[in-house]
Amino acid sequence: MRKIGPYSAEQVPSYDRLVAATTPARQLSLAPLSNLIAPACDAYDQASPDVHTRVAIALADGEKDALIDAFENRTAGMNRLLAAMTSSLPSRHADLCPYCTLDSNPDLDHYLPKEEFPEFALHGRNLIYICATCNRKKSKFYKAAPGGERLFIHPAFEPTSLQSVLSVTLKYRHRAVAAKYEIDINASISEAEKDQLKRHFNRLGLSQRYGTRAQNSLTALKEDLAQHDEATVRRTLDHKIQGSLVGEPINGWYTALYRAVDADREATVTWLLDD
Ligand SMILES: [Zn+2]
Repeated sequence: MRKIGPYSAEQVPSYDRLVAATTPARQLSLAPLSNLIAPACDAYDQASPDVHTRVAIALADGEKDALIDAFENRTAGMNRLLAAMTSSLPSRHADLCPYCTLDSNPDLDHYLPKEEFPEFALHGRNLIYICATCNRKKSKFYKAAPGGERLFIHPAFEPTSLQSVLSVTLKYRHRAVAAKYEIDINASISEAEKDQLKRHFNRLGLSQRYGTRAQNSLTALKEDLAQHDEATVRRTLDHKIQGSLVGEPINGWYTALYRAVDADREATVTWLLDD
């Protein structure tokens, strides 16, 4: 998870701009829907980030199909408009999945699924570039059953906390290490925000995904440092800890991992030196 900052307003293409960039045949069927869809998109933005309470507007089946088809068979012009959204993000983060920060973000996900809300199939702020794993796990879900709470943070509106919200517990074994990631119960954010982050974290399997990435990273470090003396190990660890503080998302798996390493530095050094 990370702070990416919302897309800047002028970079997000409106329904009308996306329709103008589709084929002439589709423009004929989609442009007249603007008087229904543009107000729905405005209401979506005003409700943000709690867009999960929206009720789908009434559209005929043919209109729904045309909207979804225009998205699925995008023209090059539409793709250019959509790709420009990420140009407003800091360049080092623009190609990272905002849901997990583990992987790059080739998939264009509908925050509210286009099958249920076809009116937002072509709404820039409903479209988020995310990674394939998050896309598969998120699927068509957006609110919890039966409570109806919102499941995911909404990257187009809602930066994740500037506070550290991830805690990591490291358990060193002979050659292996276990890294357990959780939402920090002591994080200085409201209980409602913690609950929101927990739903996001749990539904996307981030505990397991971060834990695996951290374990592999530390095991690789141990292999790289085998045969090196204690001074080299300590110096390398210092560099890693310092490096994790520069340019990395505060709630990325890597920064959280090295906060935990720093807090338990002697145990880490002992484990790295243990052959
Ligand atoms: Zn992801």
